[in-house]
Amino acid sequence: MLKQLILFIMLQSWLVGAADQGTEPEPWFRHSLVGMEVGPTGAQFSNSDTNDARYCARFNGQEVVRRCVDANCEYVVIWARDGDYAYYDSKLLLKCAGLGKRDVLQETVAEARKHKLPVIAYCVVQQGGHYLNAHPEFEMRDAKGKRIGRFCYNSGYLEVMKQIVAEQLVYGIDGFHIDMVDQGFGPPYGCWCDACRKQFEAEFGCPMPKGVTWDSDWDKMLEFRYRTSERFEKALYAYIKSLNPRTSVDFNYHGNPPFSWEVGQRPVQHAGNSDFVTGETGMWGFSAGTVGLNAEFYRAATPNAPFQIAISRDARCYHNQTVRPLADIRWEVFTLLAHGGFVTVVDKTGFDGWLDPVCYERLGAAFKEVHAKRSQFGGQPVQEVGLYFSSRTRDWVGRENAGEYFQSFEGAQKALLYEHIPWGIVLDESATLETLQRFPVVVLPNVGIVSEKERALLLRYVELGGNLIVTGFGGCYDHQGKLLEATSLEALIGARFAGKLDSMDNWVRFPGAQASSLCRQLAPEHRMDWPFLVKGPAGVFEPTTAKPVGELLKPYRTTRQKEGREGTTWPMSADTPVGPAILLNTIGKGRVLTFTCSPDYATASEHHIVEDRKLLANAVRLLHPSPRIEIVAPVNVEAVVTDDPATRTLRVHLVAYNSPPQTTPAERRPYVLPALLEDTPMYRATIKTAEPIKRATAFNPSTRIAREKRRVQITVEDIHEVISLHY
Ligand SMILES: [Zn+2]
Repeated sequence: MLKQLILFIMLQSWLVGAADQGTEPEPWFRHSLVGMEVGPTGAQFSNSDTNDARYCARFNGQEVVRRCVDANCEYVVIWARDGDYAYYDSKLLLKCAGLGKRDVLQETVAEARKHKLPVIAYCVVQQGGHYLNAHPEFEMRDAKGKRIGRFCYNSGYLEVMKQIVAEQLVYGIDGFHIDMVDQGFGPPYGCWCDACRKQFEAEFGCPMPKGVTWDSDWDKMLEFRYRTSERFEKALYAYIKSLNPRTSVDFNYHGNPPFSWEVGQRPVQHAGNSDFVTGETGMWGFSAGTVGLNAEFYRAATPNAPFQIAISRDARCYHNQTVRPLADIRWEVFTLLAHGGFVTVVDKTGFDGWLDPVCYERLGAAFKEVHAKRSQFGGQPVQEVGLYFSSRTRDWVGRENAGEYFQSFEGAQKALLYEHIPWGIVLDESATLETLQRFPVVVLPNVGIVSEKERALLLRYVELGGNLIVTGFGGCYDHQGKLLEATSLEALIGARFAGKLDSMDNWVRFPGAQASSLCRQLAPEHRMDWPFLVKGPAGVFEPTTAKPVGELLKPYRTTRQKEGREGTTWPMSADTPVGPAILLNTIGKGRVLTFTCSPDYATASEHHIVEDRKLLANAVRLLHPSPRIEIVAPVNVEAVVTDDPATRTLRVHLVAYNSPPQTTPAERRPYVLPALLEDTPMYRATIKTAEPIKRATAFNPSTRIAREKRRVQITVEDIHEVISLHY
């Protein structure tokens, strides 16, 4: 029966294809900016009561489509399958009792046809629940052979997934959003099942490691896990396309921080296995500062392709039935659109499938504004600094504590965000001379592992005029994360690595006796003779060809600390200098500026003083004194710059994160969740360009704008504004 249905849809798509020859419509994801994903609440933690007829009793596809159309959505993602149920008449999966004879997927597709609204089926891969419970033969095993509540991708489960997507395809959907193609988000890790063991031996010619060993066998295991996920994704994609090449396929992606190797995804290897990548962001699991970071990560992982970001309408996390204020929704949606993505807002319904009218009213208002601003999005990013992300360092220096590595990467991004220095991302897997040369400055934030190939590439970039900033222990680790006695970047840095400080509470000072123009330029606010804390990894470097600037000071240690009877997490004041704080080396037409400390790590740390961020900003400006665009605005305003060469227009998106003060939490003081955005702020900003401009305009009529030659001064009263500079 299934085969007949597949043949039928293949024939149907061939007939439609033949009729449309030459006028192939553009796929929905190439022109859409905003849509919604709608799914029920109550089975998300799996193993729900299969007899509870209240669950989803009112979850109705027709109603979902009507609300989405009214809310100005350009597509709808409807839940077809989660870990417990199908929300359609499935031959393989349990349907939830509350639906009775109804079929939500059928209702959705039928109503959406009337409105020409693309329907994307939400279909989970990796979620425990009733199906996995009934099929232990597909379950991952830990190193001791114990079942760990996740699907193994080498177990034969792929064949089941193929049958599931084929069932859904019969409904005439426009695409699949395939969620949770992960291997878990922490221990226990998998998979050591018989199928995996056999496949591993066939591929590597040796047995699997006995556990998480962080040696050459574990290196093979990591590779095996990555290959397993890649094979599964590619096979599922190819199968869907073989049934209907017009159906879009996207996988929800977890290759960006804070996710690491445990997920089974490398940033580039796993982002490009579908028509476009989807990632998530939002305050529920990330931060306000990393909303744009996630978007740029997806862009870097899949250059020149559309990318989707899913966010929640809820005030805290998915499935909690709260609605964010409009200002809060607008801030996140416009941040993501400014960064070039398209946005899906996720609505998880009430337990019975009830749709919250206020959610659709607020999203409708936000999406209406998006449509009015449609021409303002897209364009080529104008980015001055490239942030280099090393997946090898993530895996082998970060190991089971990758957050320590991410802190340097994310701190560098936070510094540039606050300083309005436009930034983008370079990924180690896909870095080329061309990708590096898009950026006048490239930052290597604590990139511990630098391969010979990468070193040669970075050297070439600098020789040809590129500017490199190195922080922390750049190149100081071997391929498997062992600290070396030298750095592989020695020739670039122009100094020898003499050792790592065992302290994190390290200090920097610019001595008055050294007050050269270089020293003054790098010192925050040109302040001499003042030690300030730069929390984070630091090392002693002895200059060979580099010019030393400033001093790195180790902290005092009390007698009790020296005896190991007192901790060192609380910073101690500056003791004596141990080496230079900064090294400046000229190679060919370019320069390498090395921090022997970690101003990036410090900026993301709990001791995030302004001076640490200024160190990085001053370094960028020293190396690249005349950028194409310079923006001065409050630190809570994010600036994103794009260029449209066809109309000779530079656009500066300004998005204000105007979160009000928060009060003390009942637990885990002082860690507070930011308050929701309610107001539209009023602020001033200045934009200066290197090239002459003919005209400067603001999108909002309420914005006051004045131009004097290449300098534009504005007063904005909104969450989002776009300034167009016609050159
Ligand atoms: Zn397995």
